[in-house]
Amino acid sequence: MAAPSLSSRLSEIKPSPTLAMGARIRQMKAEGHDIIALNGGEPDFNTPAAIIQRAKEALDQGLTKYSPTPGLPELREAVAAKFKRENGLSVTPGQTIVTNGAKQAVQNALLAILEPGDEVIVIAPYWPTYPDQIRMAGGVPVTVTARFEEGFRPRLDELRAACTPRTKAIIINSPCNPTGAALDREALKEIASVALSRGLWVISDEIYERLTYGFSPTSIASLGSEIAAQTITISGCSKAYSMTGWRIGYACAPTEIISAMNLIQDQQTSGAVTFAQAAAVAALELPEAEVESMRAEFEARLDLMLGRLQAMPGVEVIRPQGAFYLFPRISSFLSDSLPDDTAFTEHLLDKAKVACIPGSCFAAPGHIRMSYACSREAISTGMDRLEAALRELGA
Ligand code: PLP
Repeated sequence: MAAPSLSSRLSEIKPSPTLAMGARIRQMKAEGHDIIALNGGEPDFNTPAAIIQRAKEALDQGLTKYSPTPGLPELREAVAAKFKRENGLSVTPGQTIVTNGAKQAVQNALLAILEPGDEVIVIAPYWPTYPDQIRMAGGVPVTVTARFEEGFRPRLDELRAACTPRTKAIIINSPCNPTGAALDREALKEIASVALSRGLWVISDEIYERLTYGFSPTSIASLGSEIAAQTITISGCSKAYSMTGWRIGYACAPTEIISAMNLIQDQQTSGAVTFAQAAAVAALELPEAEVESMRAEFEARLDLMLGRLQAMPGVEVIRPQGAFYLFPRISSFLSDSLPDDTAFTEHLLDKAKVACIPGSCFAAPGHIRMSYACSREAISTGMDRLEAALRELGA
């Protein structure tokens, strides 16, 4: 008898490159290597004390049973209030859902809207989870490339040209992982016009919305009731409140979509962890000053890293509007011996003990992603090492 086989679906899914790099760095550190890790995708701050306290109280109060699938009523109320207060979206708690991280919200949204073979437009550089989740939901990712020289803003004519009779949705991510670029109102209006004229869903991943630098983000669903009726707005606690391990994301959308996402979640996870949801209410009620102190620290780190990179000949970099990544172009350092960004990041890890993620993981060859979600000291040391390694390579 032949050995039982695995699903062919697996051939469509790649391991998360950022999680894989994280595992490798942990291993190297455990082996005693002195690595400056600029690969991370999560804030390095502790979760604020008030949130932890609420989780402890929730455990003591016995909030250890199943929650309703779409979330605890008090959290859905807090989420609806947040969408109104911060995003200008008027949604009822019934038009919200709590998920196991924003990642699950994206997946459930795709499962709720896609037929096999439906196309979904993703704007590169993109978070690599999107194409894999589209394929897992039976869809086909279609890439529109936004250019470094144009501040990573997608071109309207290219968005239009990417639409076919099979196009079902477009995913936007502002501020963006990996570029940190954010879409301004005008860019969002253009995207909304494409979605409205073609009858597309918009999945708007706004997980980095609280981490912006001199930029005030706009939710595409706030542009009008027509586009709101076609938009699934996704955010969560991971990045704004340093809660990546708590796995709390949320979304708002028209009722039919929330009902569909709820149905899927019913048979998938039965909802998010109950006491983590109670703590998430405290997160959404956190005094503004606490979120602001983390944001301000990120901005100081951004300026530190950016200033150092701008002083390195051959490195091309633009100031992002949000998130906690820089996405410099390093193509001037590529050569026969270092033919691409993957070889370049391997070289940096090997020679300089600095860990970054190759841009090709985000469909942007010739770039690297560097996270400043680490201490200023780590950034300074990392930049010293990078500078020395680049001097050796020569631009
Ligand atoms: N969306 C983007 C663009 C991200 O970069 C990430 C995490 O890296 C997520 C969603 C997932 O967030 P969560 O931890 O809430 O699942």
